[in-house]
Amino acid sequence: MNEPILELAEVTKEYRTGPVAVEALRGVSLVIDQGEYVAIMGPSGSGKSTLMHILGCLDVPTSGRYALAGEDVSTMDESRLAEVRNRRIGFVFQQFNLLATLTAWRNVELPLVYAGVARAERRERAESILGYVGLGDRVDHRPGELSGGQQQRVAVARALVTDPSLVLADEPTGNLDSSSTAEVLALFAELHAEGRTIVLITHEPEVARQAQRVIHILDGRIVEDAGLTGVTSAGRR
Ligand code: ADP
Repeated sequence: MNEPILELAEVTKEYRTGPVAVEALRGVSLVIDQGEYVAIMGPSGSGKSTLMHILGCLDVPTSGRYALAGEDVSTMDESRLAEVRNRRIGFVFQQFNLLATLTAWRNVELPLVYAGVARAERRERAESILGYVGLGDRVDHRPGELSGGQQQRVAVARALVTDPSLVLADEPTGNLDSSSTAEVLALFAELHAEGRTIVLITHEPEVARQAQRVIHILDGRIVEDAGLTGVTSAGRR
């Protein structure tokens, strides 16, 4: 049996702007086991990004409980949160978020700089992971010298360089043409086959089809959770 990596119980998130409150999440309960490949779908404004920010420890719930690898996130102070973000979670974004002036390997080594890894080891690990994503011959290229699909593979390499147990991706193929989408999806499939946990937001059915489990959210609630074990009306317990 796989252990849960993420456990959310009745998580709510309220944004307050002056007198106006928006309930972006209205009681989300969800368990994701290590090694699962999960897609989150839902219309714009349904709460997907808010959920991703909470899963990634970039924001905290207004109420409810979130445990990451068994550790209650609400008990972590800012330095522990930063450490968890850096070591346990790899982030991939729609806009790649690469630094334009840095070469591929310099972009990939960044999380290791923050983690305090020595320079020679950083270079070795960055080059090795770039080889793994099929860019061993592009380590000294800058983002502007790479295709969209190659840039996203650099971003995936950066997400993986700290060997995180969880990869969170927010519309990772949203800016890619179909052949680059296929490249990035093949890479995610490989990560999943190696036992990584992947949670991605997408609005593209062909991307979601590759996941083992698809969670639909609407108005801040899980309305469908369809996985290998079948469909349930709310989060799996
Ligand atoms: P999605 O990613 O599905 O488009 P979001 O999580 O971005 O949805 O947003 C959910 C709801 O929360 C929306 O109504 C949005 O306007 C609101 N919202 C998101 N972020 C903020 C914020 N920082 N301040 C106020 N309201 C926000």
